[in-house]
Amino acid sequence: MKNNHHLKAPDLEKLNPGTPLLDEDTDFQIVAEDAPVMLWLTNAEGKVVFTNLKWKKFVGATTDGNLSGNAWLMALHPDERENCLAIFNDAFVSHQPFEMEYRLRRFDGQYRYILDTGEPYINKEGKFSGYIGSSADITERKNYENKLRHSQMELTQHNREMALINELNSYLQVCRSLQETHAIVHYYAKQIFTDQSGALYLFDENHGMVEAVAMWGDKSFFSAPVISPDDCWALRQGRLHVVEEPGNAIRCSHIDGQAVQGYVCAPAIAQGEMIGFLCVTLGDGGDEKHPAWASVESRTRLISLAADNLAMALVSLKLREALRNRSLHDPMTQLFNRRYLDDTLIHELANCQRLNRPLGVIMIDIDHFKSYNDTHGHDAGDYVLIEIAELMRSKLREGDVACRYGGEELVMIILGASKQITLDRAEMVRDAIEKHGFIFKGKNLAGVTASLGVAAFPEDGNTAAGLLKAADTALYQAKESGRNQVVASSRGA
Ligand code: GH3
Ligand code: MG
Ligand code: MG
Repeated sequence: MKNNHHLKAPDLEKLNPGTPLLDEDTDFQIVAEDAPVMLWLTNAEGKVVFTNLKWKKFVGATTDGNLSGNAWLMALHPDERENCLAIFNDAFVSHQPFEMEYRLRRFDGQYRYILDTGEPYINKEGKFSGYIGSSADITERKNYENKLRHSQMELTQHNREMALINELNSYLQVCRSLQETHAIVHYYAKQIFTDQSGALYLFDENHGMVEAVAMWGDKSFFSAPVISPDDCWALRQGRLHVVEEPGNAIRCSHIDGQAVQGYVCAPAIAQGEMIGFLCVTLGDGGDEKHPAWASVESRTRLISLAADNLAMALVSLKLREALRNRSLHDPMTQLFNRRYLDDTLIHELANCQRLNRPLGVIMIDIDHFKSYNDTHGHDAGDYVLIEIAELMRSKLREGDVACRYGGEELVMIILGASKQITLDRAEMVRDAIEKHGFIFKGKNLAGVTASLGVAAFPEDGNTAAGLLKAADTALYQAKESGRNQVVASSRGA
């Protein structure tokens, strides 16, 4: 639309608000009034001088007296009044066509999105005489656009979350212990659930309690870091528990009584094993920064997905850990096995050589064990071995290693200990065995003793095999000298 001479438009300069159009403008008025679009006219000063029936019906202005611009101003959304007036006023300076979008209150009180298009009206003398404009209700389009933008953002957010969950998984897969996973879970949970608080609770070893191993955001949301399994509905039922409004729902007692936010508890189940649960708040939802949060369903899905992934990774880590332990431990005594000892001794000796530190080795063999077995039975023998292993463990200090070297031969490595200190430690163990009350099936099995051989780096050898051999030789001498005693290797003497 350039100018509208051919429309037989009214002489706008003669119009005042509320005055009927002049005779020669009758055709225009008829057309304009009945037009299926909302139309308006202003004069050169920016005063609205005409709105058609459709426009008036839209805002609910019934009388002709409502023709003035006030009807428009009054129906404008208060937040947009300033901006609209600025565009409108600029147009009356520039005389350029303009477009603006705003919300306008409809007759039923509902705000609708309007697209206004204004064209300058130039009269026969070529003089600017106002604007002729149309208003279109674009609410449906706007809603659709919003929806589209919303789902695009949701998709972007979803992709980001999936990428983070994948990253988390790949870290969890190379963790060597459950302990190591805690910091990783904490780091990623904070990024995946931005602005949301949460915690990962896992069962302890014997499934007595459930402990938060990672907690982020507002920690006061949770009542305690260690809870009973009964405190969580997701754990009790083995399925998702969603609380949209804590004030109006069955809430878990691990949530603080003052908490106002909704939350989701998702049980962490993998390979049929429930290892704990993930609890995350629902956040504020639907704000400008995080429109993708708008649906509780999508947030719940994410929390549930994260719980499944964590469960899978943690269960497989637990299996790996158990397997590794099995390959390094003796199942009967729970001491390390010979393979572990051989590897560790080589490794630790290299360290000691480098750092110029001593290292002691104690080899222990139970006295007359064969006849012990014969007298009391193999079970009683096993029991004695397990008890001695426990005694050794109780004498361990940081850095010490205790192993079952063979059938009833046990070895202790004492890191950083000189030969004399190793001898003292060996004597403590010997003494503890001699004094220990071995009671099996109510029977006091008296007289259990052991002989011990001691060797130390550097004086008795500088290889693992050499040191073990030296300790074994000393042990043999202890046996020869009457058993129940500690003998030091004479190699380095
Ligand atoms: P000593 O060492 O005092 O010379 O006499 P000993 O009878 O202990 O002799 P030796 O060390 O040669 O015997 C090892 C015995 O330990 C043989 C076996 O009956 C017993 N033994 C080895 N492993 C186990 C085990 O796992 N359980 C039981 N109950 N006995 C074991
Ligand atoms: Mg033996
Ligand atoms: Mg023996």
